[in-house]
Amino acid sequence: MNLQSITIIFLAILIGIAYLLRVRSYDMYEKEPFFKLLLVMATGGIIAIITSTVFYSFTPVKYNFLDAIIKVGIIEELSKFIALLIVYSFIKKDFNEIVDGLIYITAISLGFAVIENIFYAFSYENHYLILFQRSISAVIGHISFSGYMGIAFYIHKRIRKNYSGILISILIAAIAHGFYDGVLFHKELNFLFIFIFILLIILQFRVLKAALGFSEFREKIVAGLFTETGETHVQYCASCHKDFKNKTLKFHRIETSVCSECGEYAFNEKNVKHLFAYSRPILRIKSFIRRLRKKDIIVYMDDKKTIAYDTRKKILSSDIDSLGEWLEQTNTTDRENLLNKPVIGLILKSIGLRATELKPDTTFKPTIT
Ligand SMILES: [Zn+2]
Repeated sequence: MNLQSITIIFLAILIGIAYLLRVRSYDMYEKEPFFKLLLVMATGGIIAIITSTVFYSFTPVKYNFLDAIIKVGIIEELSKFIALLIVYSFIKKDFNEIVDGLIYITAISLGFAVIENIFYAFSYENHYLILFQRSISAVIGHISFSGYMGIAFYIHKRIRKNYSGILISILIAAIAHGFYDGVLFHKELNFLFIFIFILLIILQFRVLKAALGFSEFREKIVAGLFTETGETHVQYCASCHKDFKNKTLKFHRIETSVCSECGEYAFNEKNVKHLFAYSRPILRIKSFIRRLRKKDIIVYMDDKKTIAYDTRKKILSSDIDSLGEWLEQTNTTDRENLLNKPVIGLILKSIGLRATELKPDTTFKPTIT
């Protein structure tokens, strides 16, 4: 093997790892061990590539829309699912929240895409260009097809039997994959590619946020979570309508400080976003704030009027316990609302997600492997 071949392989793997780190950063409540994800990416990717190669050897593919769905889509997505079934034996212990299903199948997809990229880079004249192009299109594509299967599989393994959910999730993944390849196979449909690509990414992000909204590792916001950073800062209080200076407190990415006048916790614009991203991951915070701004200068988010939001200064001030309570309750409402949405709600329900489900059922014993 010459130096160029080694460079191509090394680069392809490095790109895969960069994506893996990015994906892991979304797993915010209970991060999966990095080396386990790396192991799943490597072994899962190899298993999925071998499985799909075997399937392909039985059925030649024509480059048309129908084959893109019923052959490429089903073969490659089913292969990833089979890889997940196999790697499950060594991730069992860590497989403990819905988002884990999505994270691990994504690691498998990344492994699959990395190996595929190496083959493509070798078989084209301009190795690096094709590697670079596929690192954007095909790698993100592969990630965006398969998350549904991971969620359905988690439900089956940890919550209740979900054979129909698994079957539907494989079909959804195959159709997503088939549309992606289908519009590339037909020159006259190429212009649709970018729309399909973006739509699949948006859908996958909604699925990710949904999975986070169902996590049982999200902490309820209480005073005890926050620790002092050792710094102080000046902050406006939306309840007292004036500035105060106090110690900076931090939890995860959320920074806040306690108003020296009224004792409420005040969050600035950036940290309102971090707070909601943590506690209400399903909510689309930008449009939520935009709707508030249409109302008044000071808006109360809750019925008890304890959570004040200053729409001009973009500051939220609240008694911390009321805020924590409200965030918990509204996250539950967010889950119900999401499942009632026409497209994404239908997808999530059909792969087995129900609004009331949160905790794994410890008495449930999974039956298939
Ligand atoms: Zn105050």
